[in-house]
Amino acid sequence: MSRCLAERAIDHVVLERGEVANTWRTERWDSLRLLTPNWQSRLPGFSYNGADPDGYRTLPEVIAFIATYARTISAPVRTRTTVTSVRGTEAGYLVQTDQGDWACRAVVLASGAFNFACVPGFADRVPRSVATLTAQQYRNPGQLANGGVLVVGASSSGTQIANEIHRSGRPVTLSVGEHIRAPRVYRGKDLKWWMDAAGVLDERYDEVDDIARARRVPSLQLAGSPDRSTLDLNALVKIGVRLVGRLAGITENGRAQFAGSLRNMCALSDLKMNRLLNLIDEWVRVNELDDTTEPPYRLPPTYVEEAPPLGLDLTTGEIKTIIWAAGYRPDYSWLKLPVLDRKGMVHHDGGVVSSAGVYLIGTPFLRRRKSTLIDGAGDDARDLSDHLVSYLLSSPSRMRV
Ligand SMILES: Cc1cc2nc3c(=O)[nH]c(=O)nc-3n(C[C@H](O)[C@H](O)[C@H](O)COP(=O)(O)OP(=O)(O)OC[C@H]3O[C@@H](n4cnc5c(N)ncnc54)[C@H](O)[C@@H]3O)c2cc1C
Repeated sequence: MSRCLAERAIDHVVLERGEVANTWRTERWDSLRLLTPNWQSRLPGFSYNGADPDGYRTLPEVIAFIATYARTISAPVRTRTTVTSVRGTEAGYLVQTDQGDWACRAVVLASGAFNFACVPGFADRVPRSVATLTAQQYRNPGQLANGGVLVVGASSSGTQIANEIHRSGRPVTLSVGEHIRAPRVYRGKDLKWWMDAAGVLDERYDEVDDIARARRVPSLQLAGSPDRSTLDLNALVKIGVRLVGRLAGITENGRAQFAGSLRNMCALSDLKMNRLLNLIDEWVRVNELDDTTEPPYRLPPTYVEEAPPLGLDLTTGEIKTIIWAAGYRPDYSWLKLPVLDRKGMVHHDGGVVSSAGVYLIGTPFLRRRKSTLIDGAGDDARDLSDHLVSYLLSSPSRMRV
């Protein structure tokens, strides 16, 4: 957004409570690699030109990449500056921070969609003998006591964390809710390549039937690893991870209760994956690429044991740690504008917020399916900065964004 505003000669400042790339420095586990290939993290005026376009950036590489981009575009970032409130004024907005106040005519909310890991209300019934961590607090298996681990959530974070912990010798039980299975490589190319080429990632927010639902869909069950292997539930079962249904509750005497819907959840996930692969096959056919592309195939269905356990006594010592990997939510506690819905989400139309001059960026399916990815920021920022310029021109007066 900063780059797009600079291109449009809009005087602006970027306020950041930590350092540049703060979330990657402070809220991710050590072994994380991007699940998007190197070529795919395209930002305005920047694309990958290294030797490994199909590789997946490690965490230090992601931090270096974002920090280098900020330097390259000379983004006017004020680090170690926490925004404590944003309020409307007669002239625009007053942004209060722990480093002084800013008056501005427009505000871009770019504080991230993943500020808190979701933890269910019944988490306070976890027995004291069991340690709990969120996916944001988890760093590596060395942090955990020896013994069993219950990982709650089986999308990209949960499956990657479960895989690493189980391989460390701590038996993992994985509680599986809604997720979308995905092969890493399909017909010889990265799944993300197909999704990009076939236009799936460019699908617009005003083209889908139910945008509220589309914004809640979990991330694809993908992981970036040097061997480009598929990390799905079958791969986890193969190494000994035990699958159970969605964690529905914890009784007062410390018994975890799992939904009986595991088989259905997995069947639905297989169905969604195959729908995506059908779409890719159709794109290959329409573009007459069948002869030059590897033939289509389908993964075997997700294996679910005959009668997965519906409960687990958390007081026996079998489970030493629970890791919450059931999704993330944003934090707008500092936003003192009447733009939040009942669930605390910003009400917006493709990033244009109902309070004039306020914009949102970086949230799932903001304007396009790819909005939740680094790669989606550029197109969204171009669109929103154009809107912002029109807004400023409609009531001229020189002031910062
Ligand atoms: C576990 C995980 C893995 C992911 N993997 C990928 C991937 O492989 N590929 C991909 O493209 N995307 C991935 N994403 C999505 C990716 O994080 C987002 O696309 C990207 O971070 C969005 O950038 P952002 O700047 O909008 O938000 P963020 O990276 O969340 O940055 C928001 C910034 O705002 C700051 N901030 C928040 N509140 C305040 C405040 N009150 N005052 C001042 N500053 C504040 C934060 O410190 C932070 O630096 C992943 C996300 C997660 C959670």
